[in-house]
Amino acid sequence: MTRVTAIELNNGEKVPGFGFGTWQLEEGNEVLGATVEALKTGYRLIDTARIYGNERGVGEAIRRSGVPREEIFVTTKLWPSDFGYDSALRAFDESMQRLGLDYLDLYLIHWPGQDKQKRQEAWRALIELQKQKIVRSIGVSNYMVEHLQEVVKTSDVVPAVNQIEFHPYIYEEQKPVLDLCKKHDIVVEAYSPLSRGLGLNNITVNDIAQRLERTPAQVVLRWAIKHNTVPIPKSVHPERIKENFQVFDFELAAEDMKILDDLSR
Ligand code: NDP
Repeated sequence: MTRVTAIELNNGEKVPGFGFGTWQLEEGNEVLGATVEALKTGYRLIDTARIYGNERGVGEAIRRSGVPREEIFVTTKLWPSDFGYDSALRAFDESMQRLGLDYLDLYLIHWPGQDKQKRQEAWRALIELQKQKIVRSIGVSNYMVEHLQEVVKTSDVVPAVNQIEFHPYIYEEQKPVLDLCKKHDIVVEAYSPLSRGLGLNNITVNDIAQRLERTPAQVVLRWAIKHNTVPIPKSVHPERIKENFQVFDFELAAEDMKILDDLSR
């Protein structure tokens, strides 16, 4: 089985370089089946969130997969309506109860939200959870340059991860965030790396895929990996879950990277 190389985070922990997304997988059999399939295929990072409403199924899949807990990197996220110090801690406890886990690998602030003060209180709560070692790493999601600058300025703890939308069609727009994350040693996780399936018919992507005897999904996932991000594609279909994972045995030449980069211009 393919083993995904781990990437070191700025707190010394490690994150697998590739993961499985679970947004829109329904609680119950759907998320359970797809997540077990992903774990059997070799995925070792599972991404969920309180707002996806499927944490129970994700936890169940982890237990049923037969893969040891310590080999799996589990992420869930705090929704802005739970911002504030006490509410964040409460929301975390509830997520952990649904997941049925005794520690979490990564807890993310899902969106920056509108309330700066409550966002900062939420971040303090995450720092406390990390101190207690119940969460190994903490990070953020959908943080743009201003939000990253804020957290770096107002806190001693720099997020280990920023999970943002990242695929060829949004490359140019996200480049400033990517550069700032690099400066602070923040690992970027690429969400919607398949542009939610919408950009896979693009003729340029298909030309490259055909030439390399790969699928369009594999080409854009490879592209994201080559940009040093951690892609977390989602699929409910076993054959696509496998297809999306077959991205470690080919390369994209610099010219093809450039062609894909330019799709966002
Ligand atoms: P993706 O870019 O992963 O695309 C998923 C879509 O592509 C689904 O419709 C899926 O359909 C389809 N698909 C999957 N594989 C293939 C394939 N090989 N060929 C053709 N179509 C394919 O979108 P997501 O938005 O789901 O992003 C991935 C994950 O990122 C989420 O599940 C979630 O965990 C995370 N995320 C985080 C956000 C945040 O705010 N932090 C926001 C959005 C996502 P099917 O299932 O039918 O195969």
